[in-house]
Amino acid sequence: MRVLMPESVSEALAFKATNPDIVPIAGGTDLLVQWPGQLERQAASYLDLSGLDELRTIRWTQDTLELGALTTYWDTLCQPRVGVEHPLLHDAARQVGAIQIQTRGTWAGNIINASPAADGVPVLMAYDATVVLASVDGERQVPLSAFYHGYKQLEARPHELIRKILVPRREHDVQFFEKVAPRQAQAITVVGVTVAHSSCGWRVVASSMAPTVCRCPHLESLLQEGTPVSCPEDLLEPLRADVSPIDDLRSSAHYREQVMSRVLYFNLGETCPAFRSTR
Ligand SMILES: Cc1cc2nc3c(=O)[nH]c(=O)nc-3n(C[C@H](O)[C@H](O)[C@H](O)COP(=O)(O)OP(=O)(O)OC[C@H]3O[C@@H](n4cnc5c(N)ncnc54)[C@H](O)[C@@H]3O)c2cc1C
Repeated sequence: MRVLMPESVSEALAFKATNPDIVPIAGGTDLLVQWPGQLERQAASYLDLSGLDELRTIRWTQDTLELGALTTYWDTLCQPRVGVEHPLLHDAARQVGAIQIQTRGTWAGNIINASPAADGVPVLMAYDATVVLASVDGERQVPLSAFYHGYKQLEARPHELIRKILVPRREHDVQFFEKVAPRQAQAITVVGVTVAHSSCGWRVVASSMAPTVCRCPHLESLLQEGTPVSCPEDLLEPLRADVSPIDDLRSSAHYREQVMSRVLYFNLGETCPAFRSTR
């Protein structure tokens, strides 16, 4: 096995340009769990990004929070301002694995790993985050909501790396992240629901309900239009139009639908006066 240790982002991008199959490693929490059991299926070359301090930044501009590609969950938890302006980033970070994983795992790694059960992706998506992809040809920005084309099918090209994640700074009057899992730490999400409302409208994001973490446009329209909702079952029709849960070893599709409709209904009832008034 070959591990390349670039000393700058431009060197990393040059390695990636000449060897697009090389696998970047950030915190290694997704990649390394497969070792040594699946060693023979691993790639031959790795690109260790962990020494690139220029990717380990958290920065605020006038209208954006910028998370460098090596920003870990713990880095964000150590920044109170993140919790004040984007509380869902803290809520999700606290529920990823346990502290050992939070200190190594990165938001960018969570995006590229593309698990339908990811916990970092849904909160970033609910905040309308954009992924900045870099290559030797320059940079381009892709909205996270358009980043996945199907299960583990990503918008990123082989010679690109995530350089940073841009999160708009907006006022939200409703926001919550609910992870339903067998326990609160070290558990994979069975149903995840993230909701945010700002002047840009409603964002409803589902996890473990489809081949990718995804926005739910029919539920978003229902909330936008103030359609009366008198019980959780009223949410099932738009929910079924938005997601396609499966039966697997963690749960059944039926259970997932029922839980998501209830989590949405009761959380909105508690946090959103406009929703309460439609009942
Ligand atoms: C015990 C345990 C518990 C966990 N619990 C949770 C949980 O509760 N919730 C959850 O969502 N996840 C969980 N995870 C999964 C994992 O921790 C997260 O997905 C984490 O965010 C991955 O980040 P990383 O830096 O470790 O990624 P890595 O393992 O380093 O990489 C993951 C993928 O991203 C690619 N990559 C990394 N950085 C870049 C970049 N800058 N540009 C391009 N590609 C890149 C890698 O090549 C790889 O394909 C858990 C993992 C373990 C081992």
